[in-house]
Amino acid sequence: MSTSRYLSTEALSWLLDLGNVTSALLPEGSLLQPLWDHLQQHHHHLMRSPLFPVALSISTYFLLVGLYTGLDLLAPSWPSVNGYKLHPHKAVTWVGVRTTLRVTFYNHLLYMFPATLAQWLWRPDTPLPRDAPTLWEFLLGILGCTLLFDFQYYLWHLLHHRVPWLYRTFHAVHHQYNRPFSLVTQYMSGWELFTVGFWATVDPMLLGCHCLTTWGFMVFNIYVSTEDHCGYDFPWAMHRLMPLGLWGGSPKHDLHHQRPGTNFAPFFSHWDWLAGTDSSATDVSESTGDVFSRL
Ligand SMILES: [Zn+2]
Ligand SMILES: [Zn+2]
Repeated sequence: MSTSRYLSTEALSWLLDLGNVTSALLPEGSLLQPLWDHLQQHHHHLMRSPLFPVALSISTYFLLVGLYTGLDLLAPSWPSVNGYKLHPHKAVTWVGVRTTLRVTFYNHLLYMFPATLAQWLWRPDTPLPRDAPTLWEFLLGILGCTLLFDFQYYLWHLLHHRVPWLYRTFHAVHHQYNRPFSLVTQYMSGWELFTVGFWATVDPMLLGCHCLTTWGFMVFNIYVSTEDHCGYDFPWAMHRLMPLGLWGGSPKHDLHHQRPGTNFAPFFSHWDWLAGTDSSATDVSESTGDVFSRL
């Protein structure tokens, strides 16, 4: 057996052992069962609707960007918040908010609305299983979908930077802001929005996730995508919670917007490490002096 095959078999059996230990320590039945029962009892029709995942994604996105935009507009007169900004001397302007909102609404009207209509007309109601996933299945499902999405977007992103036509036609619009703020998350071409929406929908199906896990992944995906662009480095940010620099987060993605030849992965760091496309703030300041001064 090759070394890599042996290691992946070992890693899989370790995960399964950990799952068994976790299940043994937990009481009979899923910890999520009471929540799932409550949702089924009170929101059965809403959750069965094929429109529910779309409504959940859109409302999560606007809630998060609403919170961040509120902070952006208050930050100049609120030093304790401004101190967490990656670029404390660069305020987010109303012009920036209006421009990004205009493109977001345009994309939603032109691409999301027809896709939603098609789902409503042709997609059957979501079957709701009686049992909730175990907490382990729920968390592992979200991790698996996030790893898969991260890999897919890494390849898409690298390709759309390396092929000039693809960059000009589809990805350049997202790079119009070199110091992103939360609303830049969906300031993108219709093709890019369609691609990320497609993977976010299909990946949980590919991994056979429970619908509760699917919705958990959708919310988590939007949360971390918005955090990537938020322009803040809060103590609770994912890259601070995850050890060993495994998560790139807002500092790495912010650098990608300033230095588009590096940091292609949206969330994790391993693909950029393996492909030699990783860069950190230290690399940038060493190679270019003060990178921020020219932007
Ligand atoms: Zn971006
Ligand atoms: Zn890019």
